[in-house]
Amino acid sequence: MYVPFGARSLQGVVMQVGEESEFLEAREIEALIDPEPVVSPERLALARWLSEHYLAPLFDCVSLMLPPGFKRRPLTVLRPLAALDELPRLSLTDKQRRALAYLIERGEAEVEELRRALRLTNVPALVSALERRGLVQRAYRLSRPQVQPKVVPHLRLLAPPREAEAEAGALEQDGSPKAMRRAMVLRALADEEAAPLSRLRTLGLTAALLRDLQADGLAVAEDVTVVRDPLAGRVYPAREPPELTADQDAASRAIASALEAAAPGRPGRAFLLHGVTGSGKTEVYLAALDHAVALGRRAVVLVPEISLTPQTVRRFGERFPGRVAVMHSGLSLGQHFDIWHEVREGRYAVAVGPRGALFAPQPDLGLVIIDEEHEWTYKQQEGSPRYHARLAAEELCRLTGAVLVLGSATPDVESHFYAQDGSYRLLELPQRLQRTESGGVKPAPLPQVETIDLREELKAGNRSIFSRSLAAAVRQALDSREQVILFLNRRGTASFVQCRDCGHVPQCRSCAVALTYHGPEAALVCHYCRRQLSAPLSCPQCGGNRIRMMGLGTERVEEEARLAFPGARTLRWDRDVTRGRDAHESILARFLAHEADILIGTQMIAKGLDMPLVTLVGIISADVALHLPDFRAGERTFQLLEQVAGRAGRGPRGGRVIIQTYTPTHYAVEAAAAHDYHALYQQEIDFRRRLGYPPFGRLALLTFAHTGEAFAQEQAALMAQRLKEERDRRGLPNLDILGPAPAFVPRVRGRWRWHVTLRGSDPAALLRDLSLPRGWTLDVDPASVL
Ligand code: ADP
Ligand code: ZN
Repeated sequence: MYVPFGARSLQGVVMQVGEESEFLEAREIEALIDPEPVVSPERLALARWLSEHYLAPLFDCVSLMLPPGFKRRPLTVLRPLAALDELPRLSLTDKQRRALAYLIERGEAEVEELRRALRLTNVPALVSALERRGLVQRAYRLSRPQVQPKVVPHLRLLAPPREAEAEAGALEQDGSPKAMRRAMVLRALADEEAAPLSRLRTLGLTAALLRDLQADGLAVAEDVTVVRDPLAGRVYPAREPPELTADQDAASRAIASALEAAAPGRPGRAFLLHGVTGSGKTEVYLAALDHAVALGRRAVVLVPEISLTPQTVRRFGERFPGRVAVMHSGLSLGQHFDIWHEVREGRYAVAVGPRGALFAPQPDLGLVIIDEEHEWTYKQQEGSPRYHARLAAEELCRLTGAVLVLGSATPDVESHFYAQDGSYRLLELPQRLQRTESGGVKPAPLPQVETIDLREELKAGNRSIFSRSLAAAVRQALDSREQVILFLNRRGTASFVQCRDCGHVPQCRSCAVALTYHGPEAALVCHYCRRQLSAPLSCPQCGGNRIRMMGLGTERVEEEARLAFPGARTLRWDRDVTRGRDAHESILARFLAHEADILIGTQMIAKGLDMPLVTLVGIISADVALHLPDFRAGERTFQLLEQVAGRAGRGPRGGRVIIQTYTPTHYAVEAAAAHDYHALYQQEIDFRRRLGYPPFGRLALLTFAHTGEAFAQEQAALMAQRLKEERDRRGLPNLDILGPAPAFVPRVRGRWRWHVTLRGSDPAALLRDLSLPRGWTLDVDPASVL
């Protein structure tokens, strides 16, 4: 709706309708934007819940549920109150005169437009001056919506097609150019009944011909709304469901009975599907979807990132041809707009997308599936609200009665805890599956994992990045024409440049992190702000010329692999080579087609891909993530190692994994080597219980960022002090206030960052009634405390 606000008109959302107003004076609503409610009552309730849980403005939370491009800015429009012939008589500055002349000439103009057209500075002062003298008047209106349905002018045949054909035949006898043009257009319309004008023009439609056809009552021009669909042109052949294994069947039945028992107004059940990599979780999702659809319900499926999970998206498309809407950030605003509206009309059985797709307006929502639920891309980490899709999904299912299925090979420690205490129901697929010739499946072992202690390699005089075992295993795989994955934790984290004489490491001036070396351009790049410098030939600090690249990036691994394994074809997969739109899919397709023998990649290869020819995965170093100062470092390292290891041995030839590390006895490395999730879980849950970390306590992370180093520290100290006093005043003993402490990356884009962390059973409670001063941001349940 539009509401009056002062002299302006603003957009608003109706949250509640009541008999009378809580306020003494209320104004009338100006107009409705859409006669139908745009957001369902359950989703409005979800917005309220998000706003309370994450302490975010309610409008930000409702915005998640609004159609794309919905928000409109209020604009200030100026109208002249003087006429052109009065201008010479007025005593005005040159700027005022030009501005007034401009307004008189156009009738009115928006303030921004005036500023741009006349290159003015300080427009507010100028406008106020003119306004005071009664020479201009302000008015307000809303910007035009950013997107509209795409409307394409068409010509529709009114006459029966046979008549059109007959006339066309007669005209062709005539043979004149004019007759031929009319014949062509009539034949096209006889085929399709309606065709876009733009195409008919290529067949010879002219303005005169268009007029004649309409005047003769043969055809009529009309606007047709077309749908911008990103899946258009991709046809997935329909696939029949396979016969489920006993484990899959048991899981699928449990979900099916929850779907049958579901009723609006009663909270839906939640399941945690813990299945090792390649155990057939996706088939369980598909069976659950089948069941939901058979009951007349609709579903939302969340995946960590669309471009990294093309195989998963494809499998949904194959099972439900034409009934899957894909929502992702690569869509144009127009495409997104169209899909959103179609979803709202109930055209799709399933909406698939990353985190934000949770808010797709699916009517009759019966099932929400979150694949790879442990992934931290499900947590919004910037802007507002900083929600976690898993928690938001739980709430949505509570409100709508939909069933929630969380799936992972390496469940988040918190999710597994909730499966233990009964909040979720645990479903397990302990067996990896392998396809047989006949199209069925048989149990297969998980790949064997070997841990290599890099300290021993150094002692034995091996300075290569490949241990002797890994080098031998790669050669063996290549000899058997099999494929290899070399995994490097994080793009270029360690590929910094260091002076071997004085130890100087070039850093980004505004972000205080080491710059990363990029080989081909011999450039140093900051991975926070993208500042780029050419690599120095001598040390900027001591002038020495022994400045060398240290550590490892994917480019360096690729170079080393080419040297160590001559003749092997290598392919690199990281953020640098995947800028283009379909880059991920094309790299994956090339590797699947065996156009390369060795794939060198970072995190992104860990995500649920099925590459049957891969028999060996080499993890160049397990250590990077292990030493981050974050309480989730151990869990994250395990997840990453286990997921990457899961890429090996999916085909009939089996597979092995080699982990290289300087800390082979770390519990996360040991658990990954043994594929022992439960060992990891026990360690983690004990440690968290002891220290009050999630799921036993909750965190809220406050960050202050400022260009002044001392000021930032001071403000953080003041905040910590103020919070402690407030806590004591309210008598909340079970609330720890940690810090102030500098952030792990102490400076980003020129701003120094300081943290104050709250830990307790409800840390947000303390913050609920405090308003945060400028410069502070709040993250409730942060993904990391770095
Ligand atoms: P996950 O999602 O757990 O990694 P997938 O569902 O991708 O596992 O299953 C691994 C492979 O086994 C896929 O190629 C899948 O098509 C196949 N598969 C899974 N279950 C069956 C089944 N019951 N019958 C035939 N093939 C199956
Ligand atoms: Zn920088």
